[in-house]
Amino acid sequence: MSERNRPSVLIVEDEAALQALLRAVLGSEWNIKTAANGKTALDLAGEFVPDIVLLDIGLPDLDGLEVCRQLKSDPRLEHVPVIFLTARTSGEDEIDGLQAGGNDYIAKPINPAVLKARIRTHLELKQNRDELLRLARTDGLTGLYNRRSFDDLLNREWRRLARTGEPLSVIMIDVDHFKLYNDTYGHGGGDLCLQRVARASESALQRPADVVARYGGEEFVALLPETKLEGAMAVAEAIRAAVAVLEIPHKASQTAPHITLSLGAACTIPQPDQNPAGLLAAADKQLYAAKSEGRNRARGSDVA
Ligand SMILES: [Mg+2]
Repeated sequence: MSERNRPSVLIVEDEAALQALLRAVLGSEWNIKTAANGKTALDLAGEFVPDIVLLDIGLPDLDGLEVCRQLKSDPRLEHVPVIFLTARTSGEDEIDGLQAGGNDYIAKPINPAVLKARIRTHLELKQNRDELLRLARTDGLTGLYNRRSFDDLLNREWRRLARTGEPLSVIMIDVDHFKLYNDTYGHGGGDLCLQRVARASESALQRPADVVARYGGEEFVALLPETKLEGAMAVAEAIRAAVAVLEIPHKASQTAPHITLSLGAACTIPQPDQNPAGLLAAADKQLYAAKSEGRNRARGSDVA
């Protein structure tokens, strides 16, 4: 593993000699960042999201237990394992540490070999957990986000943009005459078609924050944060065109001799006292309009 890709360990320890020792012992295997107090630890963790944290309980400013609670309350950091380091060895401290959300506990003086073994174990657990999470979020057929993770992302962006007052757009995407496609080419053919539509849709997105997910069956949905209707219509047209140029033959289609898409876009400025259901319903309505106007097209509207 190249140095750049090695897991990172955040060492939070105020005793300079111990901090230097830990850095020397662990630095051959992992990328190391250090902090000598709680405030710096929280700032650093928020900045670069470590893979694991070694956390001294006795710190000069914030108590290590409090640092742990704050780390665990940040959604980006809640699953980062925390190993407490402490000179105190009473069972009560151990219970305090675990109640604060810590994952493990090592008493000083520290045995480097034991510490390294524990770190490896926790990193491995985290990797397995991350992989399970990734699978749970993904649609097996297309590799796109599934509906559940789309709903999570949508709710998160809704709340974020309700604070900043910026627009949020969604595009509902439907493969035209897909039932006929399956009837003609079989379900295996249908699956291949959906995979190609997924790849093409994804390739038409322009910004890193834009996401396309499988919404169910032959329906996909795109989430475009900080995007006005005009921008969303440009993306919708790009997705439509990206699939059209594939010219996937569809001899039973009444719209074109190949696979086409209908798309419905909607845009709004999220309000804190509302939820995204109205935005999705508006996009659905536009999709319906695109269908009834002849398919193979995009329609969109702003939602007041
Ligand atoms: Mg200390």
